[in-house]
Amino acid sequence: MLWYHPAPVTRFLIACDFDGTITRRDTLHLIVDRYGDPAMWDRLDGPLTRGEVTVEQAIEREFATVRATARDVLDLCRAEAGVRDGFPGFVAWARAEGHRVVVMSNGFRTVIDDLLGRMGLGDLPVACHDVAFSREGSRVLWADRGERCALCGRRCKRAELAAVRGDDRVAYLGDGISDRCVSGAADIVFARAGLAEWLDETGRPYVPFEDFHTVRRHLEHLEEGRAA
Ligand SMILES: [Mg+2]
Ligand SMILES: [Zn+2]
Repeated sequence: MLWYHPAPVTRFLIACDFDGTITRRDTLHLIVDRYGDPAMWDRLDGPLTRGEVTVEQAIEREFATVRATARDVLDLCRAEAGVRDGFPGFVAWARAEGHRVVVMSNGFRTVIDDLLGRMGLGDLPVACHDVAFSREGSRVLWADRGERCALCGRRCKRAELAAVRGDDRVAYLGDGISDRCVSGAADIVFARAGLAEWLDETGRPYVPFEDFHTVRRHLEHLEEGRAA
């Protein structure tokens, strides 16, 4: 007699932020702190929180102060970014269960592709921006996210999510400002740090997480619940 493993009843698109979500530390902060003007970060913090400058403007201003080659930046990020517990195993589990995993970042391909490659995950689809690093000051190269989002007025991650979600339910994982709007398009949100605080303030549900074992356990429960 043949026994078949049933396919998961709920197939998820697992869309995952990179900095501070997959990594332990935000690589944009690491790069600015080491090679840029960290005081710029502090000066922009208030205006950013009050909405007087956009995240994109803040990032452009900060990276204009970054004087480093791509080699310098990769050496720094490899040494300092860290990987949140359980991420490579989580991706292997998710794929074996038939879920899709994609990375959606407001960060930079030079850094993200390198760090994912070192985790053995160079084949993960990544939507992100990039930077032309230079010792004369670096320039942000924004990816084309089409029209401004009707909800937040920015070129946010919703466009990328809409392009890849298909009929799958969406689990979104994030920690920061760039995850706010897109999290509203997800069926389930896993949040930490600033994103979790914002969801608390706005009264929206989420699952707190500090490692990927927690995320996996929660998704396994959902699978079991729906299969029963
Ligand atoms: Mg982040
Ligand atoms: Zn938006």
